[in-house]
Amino acid sequence: MIYLDYQATTPLDDRVADVVDRASRELWGNPSSPHMLGLKSQQAIEKARRSISKVLNCKPSELFFTSGATESNNWAIATAAGPVSNHVITSVIEHKSVLDACLAFQERGGEVTFLPVDAQGFVSADDVADAIRPNTSLVSIMLANNEIGSIQPIQEIAAVTRKAGVLFHCDATQGIGYLEPDFTTLGPNLISFSGHKIYGPKGIGALYIDKETQGIHGGFQNMLFGGGQESGRRPGTQNITGIVGLAEAMKISRENFALERQRVLELRARFWNKLSSQVQTAAVNSPLDNTLPNCLNFRLPGVDSVDLLSAVPKVAMSTGSACNSSDQKPSHVLVAIGLDNATARSSVRVGFGRFTTMEDVDEAADQIASAALRLQ
Ligand code: PMP
Repeated sequence: MIYLDYQATTPLDDRVADVVDRASRELWGNPSSPHMLGLKSQQAIEKARRSISKVLNCKPSELFFTSGATESNNWAIATAAGPVSNHVITSVIEHKSVLDACLAFQERGGEVTFLPVDAQGFVSADDVADAIRPNTSLVSIMLANNEIGSIQPIQEIAAVTRKAGVLFHCDATQGIGYLEPDFTTLGPNLISFSGHKIYGPKGIGALYIDKETQGIHGGFQNMLFGGGQESGRRPGTQNITGIVGLAEAMKISRENFALERQRVLELRARFWNKLSSQVQTAAVNSPLDNTLPNCLNFRLPGVDSVDLLSAVPKVAMSTGSACNSSDQKPSHVLVAIGLDNATARSSVRVGFGRFTTMEDVDEAADQIASAALRLQ
C-alpha cells in the first residue's frame, strides 16, 4: 500500500511508539492518586505539558488535554458561544466538528453566520470584521483546511477580533505540523489540535485557552463535569500514554520542521509533474500559495473519484475528508470554492508525509494516471 492520505491521519512515528510503549508499562498509576505511583504519572503529564508549551510558545497552564480536536472544537464553541442571545461567526469550509457544533448552537436558538470563501478557499478578514455584531461572542476559523490545504489569515483575523473584543477560536489541527505556530503571536484565544495528524497517538489532543479567556465571566466553563483533573476544567483520568506521546510527536515535528517542509514540497511537485504530464486535463483545486505544503487536491475531468479509488487499490488517498468518505455527497469544501457537483466528484486529495518516498510518489502518479486515462 502506498499511503498518500496524511491529512486523514499520520502513522505513529517509531520514536513516539517507543515513548508510548514505555509509558504504558511504567506510568499506569492514576495521576490523581496521593502516592508515589500517582505522583510519577502526574509528573510525566506536567513534563509533557511544559514541553508542548515550549514548542508552541504558550504557558503550560494554558494547555488542557482532551480526547482530540473534535472534543476541543466542541468544548471551545459550546462554551465560548455563550447564551443563545449571542451570535457566532465561522466559515463554510470548517471541519464538521466545528460546523456541527455551530449548528447545534443555532438549533438551540443562537445566530450563526457561515462566511463564504473565495475560489482559492480563503476567508477574508474584512468579511469577518463586517459580520461582527454587538452580540457576537465568538469567531471560529481554522488554521488550514483539511481538504484543499488553504491557510487562513489567522493573524489578520485575530487583529479584527481583538479590536472588537470578540473571542477567537482556531482549529489548528491541520496546520500545526508544518506552520511552526507560535500561539502567542498567532493571536487566537482558543486553539484546538490533535496528536494523530503529527505522527502522534490517536485519541489525544488539547485545547489552548489563553490566560485572559480563562478568567472571562468568572471562568471559561467546562463541557464535562467530574473530577479535578486538568485544573478541574476537563475532568476524567488523563490519557497519560497519549499525553507523553503527543509531547514527543510535537518535539520531533519541531526539530525537523524546515527539512520536512522542504521534502514534502518536493514530493508534491514531483507527483504533480508526473501526473499532469500524463493526464493533460488534470487541474489543481488547492491554492498555489498559502497552502499546506503536503496537501494536493486535484480534479481529473470525466473520472468519478470513487471509481478511481477502486481502480487504484494500492494507493491510499481520499475523495474528500475521511470523516465524509462513506457519504457520497460532493465535499462541502469543493462546493464552497465554486466547483459544480460533477467537478467536485472528479476530485481527489493526496497528502504526503514523513514516510513517503520518491518511489511511492512515482508509482502512485503512474497508477493514478493510467487508471484515469482508462476511466475518462
Ligand atoms: N479538525 C480538522 C481540520 C481535522 O482535519 C480533523 C481530523 N479529520 C479534526 C478537526 C478532528 O480531529 P480528531 O480526529 O482529533 O477528533
